[in-house]
Amino acid sequence: MSLRLFVPFDLAAGAGLVLAREQSHYVATVMRARAGQAVALFNGRDGEWLAVLDDVGKGGVRLTVGAQTRPQAPEPDIWLLAAPLKKDNTDLVAEKAAELGASALWPVFTRRTNAARVNAERLRAHLMEAAEQCERLTVPELKPPAALDQVLAGWDSGRTLLFLDEGGSGAPLPEVAAGLSGKLALLVGPEGGFAPEERDLLLRLPFARAVSLGPRILRAETAAIAALAVVQALAGDWKWRPRQA
Ligand code: SAH
Repeated sequence: MSLRLFVPFDLAAGAGLVLAREQSHYVATVMRARAGQAVALFNGRDGEWLAVLDDVGKGGVRLTVGAQTRPQAPEPDIWLLAAPLKKDNTDLVAEKAAELGASALWPVFTRRTNAARVNAERLRAHLMEAAEQCERLTVPELKPPAALDQVLAGWDSGRTLLFLDEGGSGAPLPEVAAGLSGKLALLVGPEGGFAPEERDLLLRLPFARAVSLGPRILRAETAAIAALAVVQALAGDWKWRPRQA
C-alpha cells in the first residue's frame, strides 16, 4: 500500500522534514517503510506533494519533498454535528465523515446522549487516518464537544442547519439538499433520538430545517452516513472532477 501522510509542516520543493515521534513510529514500524520509498504528503494548505524517505532510523523519519502532485482545491463546507455514541460507533462516524467529505465534525451532547464525554485525541486520529487513506487534501476539523443548547445559541445564521428528525416532521432530505448551496451543517441525534423540547426548539430556529431520511428509523450512525452521502451528492461535490489517471 502506498504511503500518504498528513503533516503539520509547510510543503515546498526541496524541503527537508523530520516526522514527529508517533508518526515516525507509524511509518517505520507499522507501515514498515524503507529509505528510498516514495510518500505522498498533504497539510490542508499546500496541496499534495511527493516526497522520498531519506531515513527511517531511530532518530525519527526524515524525508525530502519533491514535486507537487495536486494543488490545494476548494472543498464543500459541510459540517456534521452528531451526538456521541458508543465508542466504536463514534469512531465509525468520524471515519465515514472524513471519507464523505465533511469539513468539520462537531460532537454535540443532547438530552438523551448516553456518552458522558468524547476522546478528542482518538477522534482526531480517526479523522486523520481516514483523510490520508481517501486522498482528501484536508483533515476535517474537530470542533470542541459542546451541549446542543450552547451550539445553537452561538450559531452563525449564514449556515443552514439540517436537522435529521426521525419524528417525520421533515421534508425529504434529497428534495431539500437539491435546492441548497453554501455553508451547510447536518445534525444527527443520539440512539434515543431528540427530546420533544429539543425538537420544538429546533423547529423554531430560522436557520434550521427539519429533514427526513424516509420511513425507516435508522441507527444514528447509519443516519449520519446516509445523510452526508445525500448532501454531498446533491449540494456538495458539484465542482469535483475525477483526476487524470
Ligand atoms: N430512538 C429513537 C430513534 C433515534 S435514531 C426513536 O425511536 O424515536 C437516531 C437519530 O438518527 C435520530 O435522532 C435522527 O437524527 C436520525 N434518524 C434516524 N432515522 C431517521 C429518519 N428516518 N429520518 C431522519 N433522521 C433519522
